[in-house]
Amino acid sequence: MKLISIVVPAYNEEANIAAMHQKLMQELESLPYRYEIMFINDGSSDNTLREILKLAEAHEHIKYISLTRNFGKESAMLAGLKRIQGDAVIVMDSDLQHPPTLIGEMIQGYEDGFNQVVAKRSRTGDSKVRSLFSSLYYKIINSITDVDFQDGEGDFRLLSRKAINAILALSESNRFSKGLFSWIGLSKKTINYENVLRTDGESKWSFSNLVNYGIDGIISFNMKPLRICFYTGFLVLFLSLIYIFFTLYNIMREGIGAPGYFTTITAILLLGGIQLISLGVIGEYIGRIYNETKQRPHFLVDISNADEYHES
Ligand code: UDP
Ligand code: MG
Repeated sequence: MKLISIVVPAYNEEANIAAMHQKLMQELESLPYRYEIMFINDGSSDNTLREILKLAEAHEHIKYISLTRNFGKESAMLAGLKRIQGDAVIVMDSDLQHPPTLIGEMIQGYEDGFNQVVAKRSRTGDSKVRSLFSSLYYKIINSITDVDFQDGEGDFRLLSRKAINAILALSESNRFSKGLFSWIGLSKKTINYENVLRTDGESKWSFSNLVNYGIDGIISFNMKPLRICFYTGFLVLFLSLIYIFFTLYNIMREGIGAPGYFTTITAILLLGGIQLISLGVIGEYIGRIYNETKQRPHFLVDISNADEYHES
């Protein structure tokens, strides 16, 4: 019988762990598969770990990893993927926003031969402003990056062993999963589901988190922002040269006229702005290079009942 692994990162989710497990079991027990549920405690400051340990004591199918501090969901997910043994994995949030009732359908997709089965959520319940920003963002990111990003497609997905291994082979420390999942390619099926609102605890996403995540997405997947700086600089230089020649020509014909306060200040502000943006973009890339060169591990494990898994 095939083994299905469920990977569940959890950060301050004490109120949700038990309920999540309950619902997962209900689904999994009705399916003809062996299963393991891997909880990753991402440095929670509440009783999340205690809840997980309680479950692990009572059930053999519960695996857990507890990280030494909060490393972020990307790292928690990676930690989980490294230690599961399944023929396929389903990555899910622990806040019940990813309905376990979809598991059966996702596994069906896997049995039909798809390497990735993505559960895509609708935007019902999201604020208008957030939806608007999101759809705008996806338009921009899709037009400047080479990988395909879909609004509503997140980390809630099933990966075959082939896809898991492909993801694990990517060692970059600045991980933008949405992009990585898309980058590895492989056959993919999408299942739609109605957005579920969080009932307990709160989302860890603040507005600035979202903005940073957005910038990560763009910078991680292409060099085009650097090129845009280059072209903008080139364009401004070209226009300036035309303007300078034109002005010189006028001065030679008619002598120096009114002092050019307006043009001077415009040129300074315009160029200053462009230079600062360009520097910022370059800085983003250099910062990332700096990060990658340190080659630090993505996470540190405090305690766990599962070892790193290598296919034999
Ligand atoms: N999460 C995590 N580490 C973090 C932040 C979040 O493991 O630093 C987990 C969290 O417990 C949840 C999932 O990632 O299971 C999604 O988090 P959240 O619900 O805050 O995001 P949203 O659903 O609002 O996108
Ligand atoms: Mg959530």
